[in-house]
Amino acid sequence: MDTKYFKDKVVIITGASSGIGLASARLFGSYGSKVVMAARSIGKLEELAPSVSADKDHVLCVKTDVSKEEDCRNLIEKAVEKFGKIDILVNNAGVTKDNLLMRMTEEEWDAVLDTNLKGAFLLTKAVARDMLRRRAGAIVNLSSVVGLAGQAGQCNYAASKGGLIAFTKSVAKEYAARGIRANAVAPGFIQSAMTDKLPEATRAQMLAMIPLKRMGTGEDIAKVVAFLVGDDSAYLTGQVLAVNGGMMM
Ligand code: NDP
Repeated sequence: MDTKYFKDKVVIITGASSGIGLASARLFGSYGSKVVMAARSIGKLEELAPSVSADKDHVLCVKTDVSKEEDCRNLIEKAVEKFGKIDILVNNAGVTKDNLLMRMTEEEWDAVLDTNLKGAFLLTKAVARDMLRRRAGAIVNLSSVVGLAGQAGQCNYAASKGGLIAFTKSVAKEYAARGIRANAVAPGFIQSAMTDKLPEATRAQMLAMIPLKRMGTGEDIAKVVAFLVGDDSAYLTGQVLAVNGGMMM
């Protein structure tokens, strides 16, 4: 892949303080992009920013709760104020609150849907103005294998990730004629804070289902994210790339 394309591109990444989001921020940073890191914990973002780019002028950290419209608008405003435009949005922030359906509370349902699905809606809407004005932009949404196949004990998470796929396709159709592409990545079982908290037995069970015989890394996913927002995928929109070591074919 020709990474020169990414030099000085402005990339917003939500959930950039951990796992896939952090790996993506570091990858774009290494390509010379201007990276806007968003998450709720600003302290963590600021601590990690030097690992994204040694050039302080190439990184901006913005405290953001993507489930809040005001925070999403503020994030876009701050990014445009500092870098003048937004080329790429990576809707990566996500949470789990697992429970069996009969035990799942309304709060557990709302918390997951608000961050994973409503957050992507709010931020895509907020970023669209700048992208539409310039008739250019690329968006990637982090879905999940669970959004394609479902998962017992995760009906809230699965619904949010399945919803993200339908959302991605709708955005792709609505904005294709205006030069904006939208795609999704559906990762499988990836090493991160999210999967670290799973019981050992569940982790072993998941590993046994992966033909490539290892968990994915944040970097495995970050490279696909970069492909989907780069020049090499210029004719690709409304698609879902499953990146899962063969776990689901
Ligand atoms: P992590 O738990 O490692 O990181 C989640 C990130 O999201 C953190 O930076 C967190 O920071 C941020 N975040 C959580 N809630 C909010 C919010 N309301 N507003 C803004 N930021 C928020 O997750 P992963 O790296 O594992 O996952 C990244 C994405 O990939 C998620 O969407 C996840 O669903 C998806 N995915 C992950 C898989 C895996 O196996 N790990 C598999 C398939 C999909 P803070 O708490 O400070 O806000």
